[in-house]
Amino acid sequence: MDTRAAFIGLGTMGRPMASRLLAAGWDLSVFDADPAAMRPLVEAGARGAASPADAVADASFIVTMLPNSQHVLDATTGQDGALTAAAPGSVLIDMSTINPMTSRNVATFAGTRGVAALDAPVSGSSAGAADGSLTIMVGGDADVLDRSRHLLSVLGARIVHCGRSGMGSAVKLANQVMAATSMVAVAESFRLAQALGVDPRLLYDVSTSSSGDSWSLRTRPPVPGVLDSSPANHGFRPGFKADLMRKDLDLALSAAASAGLDLPLAAAVHDLYADLGKAGFGDRDFSAVIEVLPR
Ligand code: NAD
Repeated sequence: MDTRAAFIGLGTMGRPMASRLLAAGWDLSVFDADPAAMRPLVEAGARGAASPADAVADASFIVTMLPNSQHVLDATTGQDGALTAAAPGSVLIDMSTINPMTSRNVATFAGTRGVAALDAPVSGSSAGAADGSLTIMVGGDADVLDRSRHLLSVLGARIVHCGRSGMGSAVKLANQVMAATSMVAVAESFRLAQALGVDPRLLYDVSTSSSGDSWSLRTRPPVPGVLDSSPANHGFRPGFKADLMRKDLDLALSAAASAGLDLPLAAAVHDLYADLGKAGFGDRDFSAVIEVLPR
């Protein structure tokens, strides 16, 4: 089985994912725009590259894990981008959360170079990236996914084929709308409970076995003293950054607009996350949204 890969984007998610591939015996070259991000992986045995094009020289698989659509375009189709040097027959797997249209455009450009492409965004935090328990939503040809399974299974516990190119990105954005809006609902509910004199621990206990239950409630009740592992117990750190959630809602709203659809709740929730960023909480877990709700 071919285990030569390049990994581009070694941040909160990419670094632990690349570390897993190294630990699983993959022959890995790495690139990040920030040289400091490459150092720990080079020390662990990866080859540090000078550019995305340099990283892909001997790679059969090219993984990108970058913040947003423009970063993916720069690192793949841009000058010194991975697709300027990728070998025909190799596979580009973009695991970033980006616009589905960009996923499709990158896949089309890759095709002109004889490179197959998958969009494969993930759900799961940096802890999920570290222990290989991510859910991976894949868009692209089923046979390309089959060729890539031995790589993806090092990174994720659940790999779901969502359809043609761009459909992995589409499913991810639809999921983010649920995660973001349910978090605001949970936060408002805790504000109501507070105003009515309800013990937040009692609310958590009752609602996790009632109709109000949700992943947002279970993993991150937004007030301290309710759940040990909740970000609210540690100043809303670490966690999934509010700025990333706002970015995902931006993507969801623009994808909705191109489909001629309004998402009134997601739009209102987007504005709350924008306010949270302006209030200086953009780098905190997204459950910090309670801080911009009326008291
Ligand atoms: P991050 O900002 O921590 O890391 C991104 C890395 O990409 C940085 O090291 C940056 O230097 C590098 N980079 C930026 N532009 C580059 C370029 N042109 N070439 C090479 N490197 C470049 O982001 P992250 O938290 O790792 O998130 C990555 C993606 O995964 C995002 O799309 C995010 O929405 C998604 N995601 C994140 C989480 C999470 O919990 N953090 C969970 C699920 C999905």
